[in-house]
Amino acid sequence: MARTETDRCPGVLAVHQAADGGLARVRLPGGWLTAEQLDVLRVAAAGLGDGRLELTSRANVQIRGLDARGPRELSDRLFKSGLLPSIAHERVRNILASPLSGLDDESRYDVLPLAGALDRALCDRPGLAELPGRFLFALDDGRGDLADVRADVAVRALDERSAVLSLGNRGVRIGWGQVPDLMLAAAEAFLEVRDQEWRIAEVPDGEKRILARLGLTADEPLDTSTTQVTAGVHGTAQVVTVPLGSLTQPQATALAAAAGTTGVRVTPWRSVVVEVGAAGLEEVGLVTEADSVWEGVTACAGRPGCAKALADVRADAVRLMPTFARDGRRVHWAGCARRCGKPSGGFVDVVAVGDGYLVDGERV
Ligand code: SF4
Repeated sequence: MARTETDRCPGVLAVHQAADGGLARVRLPGGWLTAEQLDVLRVAAAGLGDGRLELTSRANVQIRGLDARGPRELSDRLFKSGLLPSIAHERVRNILASPLSGLDDESRYDVLPLAGALDRALCDRPGLAELPGRFLFALDDGRGDLADVRADVAVRALDERSAVLSLGNRGVRIGWGQVPDLMLAAAEAFLEVRDQEWRIAEVPDGEKRILARLGLTADEPLDTSTTQVTAGVHGTAQVVTVPLGSLTQPQATALAAAAGTTGVRVTPWRSVVVEVGAAGLEEVGLVTEADSVWEGVTACAGRPGCAKALADVRADAVRLMPTFARDGRRVHWAGCARRCGKPSGGFVDVVAVGDGYLVDGERV
């Protein structure tokens, strides 16, 4: 059945018109980009946008404040740098991978190369350009850091040979060689069975109907244990907290310099992974140690970027976080009840209501 509702998920060409100008979202499968690509994004933000690079909860990057010529110029630059391999698929390349995959002892299998393989195979299938921009693939290296991201099609490593594929509540044990094809076959089956739905979980009996089309039976219980990746050194990686997930020009420059030959990985928690031993990060306001006041703190755009915002939540977060009681939980600041960009899992819910905030439903 033909869809009647428009997919409003922003991309590079189909930008969202926000109160502060065009907002472009650049997909980074696996959250990965080279130092050169980070520099392309930085320069584009400076010349075409408001100068900042926003990190998202799907490990993508956003540029705000684009004028009318911005999307075309930005897409040309991204195409030349390899960040826009398929215009038709640009909004559906939503692939998360465990950001520390292959870099520390917690990784049962290095899923980052699979993210690249999955992305290339996705772009090779014209029909999958029809996926909704909200449809999400996730590759968990076994540690459980992506266990609560609510992906449509997820894989979690068991060991070097096998993984569990899941579309919902139960899983199917498969070999690594089957992973890209089965994940994409599940996405194709979703397009066949859906009506107006954006996600597999919204389709009545979606998990069951899609698995049936693939000839699979979900008989493996899911490991739902989770782990949080905090700032600090993890094996050969340095995880860096980016205050409010918004990179300034000096911060982006410092991270590109720290990337080395292995590149930079953006995490779904709006932090960044670089090689251990990177210098010059704290000097530009980035945080390299765990338990800082900015660890796990996120905020939506708020005023002045969003017309719906009831407060400048970012300025309020900067002012109030140092005194905020949070008991080690993540914190999300939102300018209205939509709570854009809220993290998955539990968090302290801070919502503007016009003349103050609700914190976990309590007026403050
Ligand atoms: S949560 Fe509300 S104020 Fe914040 S970006 Fe979304 S719509 Fe705008």
